[in-house]
Amino acid sequence: MNWEAVIGLEIHVQLATKSKIFSGASTEYGAEPNAQACAVDLGLPGVLPVLNEAAVAMAVKFGLAIGAQINLHSVFDRKNYFYPDLPKGYQISQFETPIVGAGEVNLLLEGGQQRRIGVTRAHLEEDAGKSVHDLFPGQTGIDLNRTGTPLLEVVSEPDMRSAAEAVAYFKKIHALARYLKICDGNLAEGSMRCDANVSIRPVGQDSFGERTEIKNINSFRFVERAINHEIQRQIDVLEHGGKIERETRLYDPDKDETRSMRGKELSADYRYFPDPDLLPLVFTEAFVEDIRAQLPELPEARQQRYCEALALSSYDAAWLSNDPDVANFFDATVAVCSNAKQSANWIMGELAAVLNKADLDITASPVSPQQLGQLITRLDDGTLSSKTAKTLFDALRTDDAEVDVLIETLNLKQMSDSGELESIVDQVMADNPAQLEQLRGGKDKLLGFFVGQVMKLTQGKANPQQVNEIIRSKL
Ligand code: ADP
Ligand code: MG
Repeated sequence: MNWEAVIGLEIHVQLATKSKIFSGASTEYGAEPNAQACAVDLGLPGVLPVLNEAAVAMAVKFGLAIGAQINLHSVFDRKNYFYPDLPKGYQISQFETPIVGAGEVNLLLEGGQQRRIGVTRAHLEEDAGKSVHDLFPGQTGIDLNRTGTPLLEVVSEPDMRSAAEAVAYFKKIHALARYLKICDGNLAEGSMRCDANVSIRPVGQDSFGERTEIKNINSFRFVERAINHEIQRQIDVLEHGGKIERETRLYDPDKDETRSMRGKELSADYRYFPDPDLLPLVFTEAFVEDIRAQLPELPEARQQRYCEALALSSYDAAWLSNDPDVANFFDATVAVCSNAKQSANWIMGELAAVLNKADLDITASPVSPQQLGQLITRLDDGTLSSKTAKTLFDALRTDDAEVDVLIETLNLKQMSDSGELESIVDQVMADNPAQLEQLRGGKDKLLGFFVGQVMKLTQGKANPQQVNEIIRSKL
C-alpha cells in the first residue's frame, strides 16, 4: 500500500518583550532559578494580571505579515490543568476567539516547487515554568523564571505532506519571526518550539487518519527526524493490522524514536472559560494600521528583489534572504562594490565556510561587509587576481586594516607591466624546451602548463588572461 502523510504544526513563538505577558518581571534568559518570578507569575492569591501591550503589538505584526485576519476583539481564557510547574493550576490562553485568525504562508521547496500552507490561527498565551529532572538525584526541581513569558502559538492547517515540507514551514515561520523582530529565534534556548501532529492515509483517500502529537521539538533537524520516525511507526502499526491511538508522544533525540507520553486530552478536559481577571482584548483599526505601517521588507519581497533587481538566481536569493542578518550583510556589501553576483558568491562560499568552522553568527563576522565590498571592487578593477583575493580574504580575518593598505603591505597587486611579464614568459619557455616543442606542434593542452608556470613564478600576481595572450603572441 502507498501511504501519504498529513502533518499540522503548532509552533510556540516566544515573544521578545522585556517583561512578562501579565506582570512586570523580566524575561531575560539565564538568570538564577526562580529569581525572575513575581507574585503574579507565582499565582499567589490576591494579585491581578495586567496585559503587556508590546506582546499584543507583536502578535498583530505577525498576523499582518501572513495576511491574516486580525481580530479587534479577542478573549483570554483559562486552560485548567495541574502540573508542578504551573502554580496557578491554569494557563492563561485564548481559545474560541484568538487575536489572529486565518492566514497563509508560502513555501519555496528545494527544486523550486511552491507550496501554500494555511495558518488556522495564532493566539497569545503565557508559558509555564520548567521542571528540571536531571539536577537533583531522585528529585525534580522547579524553575518558574519562564512562567508568564509571552508566547504566540501559531497553529497550521493539516496542509503538509512530508517531513521536509514541515521543516520548510517551521523555517519560514522562524525567518518571519526574526524579520519582524518579535522573537530572537534561538531554538537551543527554547525560543521557538513546535508540536507536530502526524497522521497517515492511503494515497487517494480523502478523509484523514487518526493522528498523534509529538510534543516540544526544538530543532529543525529533530522536526524532520521525529516526523519521519512517526510516519514509519504508524505505517508499521497499520500494516500489521493495528490501530493508531490518539495520543501525545515524545521524541527522544538520543534514541531517535518517539514514545507514548500520555493519552491525548481533548479540549473539554481543560474546562476552558473566559478569565474573569482580564477584560476582553479590544483595540482599534488605527492601532492595527499603525503597526502595518511599520512592517519591514519581508523575506519573500527581499528574495524577489534579489532576483529581479539584482539578477540573482532564485537559489542564491532564497539563501541570502532567509536570515535578515545575512541579507543585511549582503546589502551592505553590494552597497560598497555594486556587484551582487560576486557578493553572493563570497558570502555563500568563503565567508559561510569561515563562519561555519568557527561557529560564528554573521553579525560577529571577522570580515566586515565594507572590507568584503572593497575586496570585490579591487577584484573587479583588476588590482587583485582571484588567487590574491583569497590571500587577502584570509588576511582580513585577523587584520582590521584598510583593504588598500593590506594590498600594499602584503604586496598583492596583480602584475600588469607587460614588459616584465614578457620576460618571465621568455624565461619559462627557455626553461621548458621539450614542452615548448610540443606546444608549437599543436598540443594546446600545454598552454595551461605554461600559464601555470608563470603564475607560480609571480606568486599568483600575474593576470592569467594577459599571460595567455603573451604566450600566444610568442608562438
Ligand atoms: P487540538 O485541539 O487537539 O490541539 P486542533 O484541531 O487544534 O487540535 O489541531 C491541532 C493541530 O493538528 C493543527 O495543526 C492541525 O492542523 C493538526 N491536525 C488536525 N487533524 C490532523 C490530522 N488528521 N493529521 C495531522 N494533523 C492534524
Ligand atoms: Mg493544540
